[in-house]
Amino acid sequence: MARTAHTLTAIRCATLIACMAMAPVHADEGDETLGVISPVPASTKGKGTPPSWAGKAFRQGVVSVANPYGAEAGAQVLERGGNAIDAAVAIAYALNVVEPQSAGIGGGGFMMIHLAAENRTFVVETREKAPAGATPTMFVGVPNSSLQGVAVGVPGMVRGTAMAIEQWGRLSLADVLQPAIRLADQGFAATPRFSSSIGCGATARSANSPEVKDYFCPGGAPVPAGALVTNKPLADTFRLIAANGPDCFYKLMPEKGCDIATGIVEGQKFNRPQAPGGKGGSMSYADLENYNAVIREPIVGTYRGYTIKSMSPPSSGGLTMIQMLKMLERFPIGDASLGYGFGSAKTLNVMADAMRIAFSDRAVWMGDADFVPVPAKGLLHPTYVGQRGAAIVPGTRIFPNPAAGDPRLYDSAKAGPSPRLAVAEPVTGPGETTTHFVVVDKWGNLVTYTNTIESGYGIGVFAGYKRADGSFRSHGFLLNNELTDFNTAPTTNPYTGSPGFNDVQPNKRPRSSMNPTMIFSPDGQPLVAYGSPGGATIINSVLNVTLNLIDHKMGLQEAIDAPRISITGTGSGIAIEPGFPQASLDALGALGYTLTPSEIGSVQAVILDRQTGKQYGGADKRREGTVIGLPRPQGK
Ligand code: GLU
Repeated sequence: MARTAHTLTAIRCATLIACMAMAPVHADEGDETLGVISPVPASTKGKGTPPSWAGKAFRQGVVSVANPYGAEAGAQVLERGGNAIDAAVAIAYALNVVEPQSAGIGGGGFMMIHLAAENRTFVVETREKAPAGATPTMFVGVPNSSLQGVAVGVPGMVRGTAMAIEQWGRLSLADVLQPAIRLADQGFAATPRFSSSIGCGATARSANSPEVKDYFCPGGAPVPAGALVTNKPLADTFRLIAANGPDCFYKLMPEKGCDIATGIVEGQKFNRPQAPGGKGGSMSYADLENYNAVIREPIVGTYRGYTIKSMSPPSSGGLTMIQMLKMLERFPIGDASLGYGFGSAKTLNVMADAMRIAFSDRAVWMGDADFVPVPAKGLLHPTYVGQRGAAIVPGTRIFPNPAAGDPRLYDSAKAGPSPRLAVAEPVTGPGETTTHFVVVDKWGNLVTYTNTIESGYGIGVFAGYKRADGSFRSHGFLLNNELTDFNTAPTTNPYTGSPGFNDVQPNKRPRSSMNPTMIFSPDGQPLVAYGSPGGATIINSVLNVTLNLIDHKMGLQEAIDAPRISITGTGSGIAIEPGFPQASLDALGALGYTLTPSEIGSVQAVILDRQTGKQYGGADKRREGTVIGLPRPQGK
């Protein structure tokens, strides 16, 4: 792909190799060329809209967020002496206000942290859990189950973010909640995406319950871009959490005014009136009290000498992506003289078939490893990956469709007695689900955080309950539909005949695709932190960007801007973004692939230049990607 003037001037630390270069780089050279993305058009600027930013290469911290207000919240916390963990938590709460359709305290996510001083990388895992009363058949026969209370998992964000702040933050939870409280209380100008995502028809997720419809569709029409939006109930909820800590979310404590648990338990009883025969959830106060966030080790692999750290189970992200990278490593992906290079038919051909093979294994062997014996070592064992990847032959399309292999032979941890099958794909709404953001601070600590309520607007219901007088006490946040990431009907493992890995079990976490990732230099120094939303396409968005950085040697923004491809199953249908050469598309068609135009993912990232200490951000124009770097340029 030709590099555009924009991307060339937007990136100082042009490639991963440049970021690792041993030659000294003049500290100030070209600083002014690093543009900060401000996607909010002038027409939407109004009360509460942050100023536009024109940036430089930075040393005091960078935030990259899919929303300008979220970015501003993170930058303010860094400026007040917070570290990357503080800023990331501030962003997560702020996004609950300004990007409520994608993520918030009604859901959960994966917060990968790299602590510079300890050179340690781990994940604060806040995935939603099935209630104790959940069963493998609970979705069977339920109409529109992703819009019913039965889909709501026990939310994790509040417990995990509080844990992160307490253990690794420099500020208090109450401090980092302030920007979000201000946004909810005083309001913000609706961004174009906030507005355009809203549907007000009878089947829209954003109109699934009367209170949610009133909020997003006042007078029956979507809130217009630029309109001032407040969320006073959410501001009150945040104040309760700020004053009383996370227990105020997970326990009913009337003496402290903490009634959020009632809002969640009552809210998830929602039985969608538009679809008679719906079903509420079984979540109890005990389920909420028992929620535990977990510190997890990432999945670690190597690719062309770089170390890749990605998300471990209950996500399928790390295992699937690193399996693909290992299968692709034998091809000279970056070498145009051998017919590869960015966007060539050969490159897309081998990428597509690596996706098909890895997703066939994902469907059988991945799920919540606290409940099922995911053969993680076997899935990444060089012999197993070599055998699986041998099916990829440039110039041909794997036919018939690949079937799952059996990695248990290569799994030194040994598979347990009940290997399971997982076949369902996440229910996702178009382009509104989930959010990804990244922070680096002046100490070099990194956070890459994917957060979600699953589909856009979750189940389309606010946490809340009817008071004795009949009025609605809203808590202002949307409840997730994460449990539809489980198989929505019981399945069977073709190898063992036992139940599916990703079938519902009480207290289990549904399999995710979210994949916050970091790339490290061969000697173990962090270089890049990134990730994406997009359901199962997340894994492929992160793969595309990884190849762009390492094989195609693109600058960070260029790697994000470049068109992507994705296959999330074993079939030959490629979701493809515009911008690839027509000759490549024709060649793929001739091999028997079908191509469907799509928009794929929303990648936010930072890259570190270890030689100069400079920090750079990249963000995705597919949504409202925004980078703010510190110190801020004078007058901005
Ligand atoms: N719930 C999905 C997952 O965990 C993410 C949803 C999305 O990104 O669209 O994989």
